[in-house]
Amino acid sequence: MLQWQLSNRRKYQIFTMIKLKSIIQHILLIRGTYLMKILRYKFVDFIPEELEGDILYISLEFKTAIHLCPCGCGNQVVTPFSPTDWKLIFDGEPVSFYPSIGSWTLPCKSHYWIRNNQIEWAPLWSEREISKLRKKEKKEKKKFFKRRKKHFKSE
Ligand SMILES: [Zn+2]
Repeated sequence: MLQWQLSNRRKYQIFTMIKLKSIIQHILLIRGTYLMKILRYKFVDFIPEELEGDILYISLEFKTAIHLCPCGCGNQVVTPFSPTDWKLIFDGEPVSFYPSIGSWTLPCKSHYWIRNNQIEWAPLWSEREISKLRKKEKKEKKKFFKRRKKHFKSE
């Protein structure tokens, strides 16, 4: 009987945690919709020592971009452009990055999209979801480079 009560209590705790997580995510999504941060972009040859908070610094020469995390934590977020990393979408006016940016290694664990110069907040991910994604990315990268090697060999 005691066992049953405990397990029910545990179930309730898990249920509450899931509920809480979904409420937080909804707040973040609402915040993301109403407080969409607008960024400017700069194509640069060199990354300046001091970064401004609302600027995306893009270097085509080094195939990378850098910006300060939009949550305000002050950390730098580097997004290299490559077939297995990010894609820069630029039509002469706003810029977009694909896919979303997840700062999993930062304490803030920010997750957002950059679409048409705007930060759109995405749901927070759990440690489990993050480690699953990282494993998947690693696998895809491995596959990509294996395929590329094969391709160059056959030429
Ligand atoms: Zn941050």
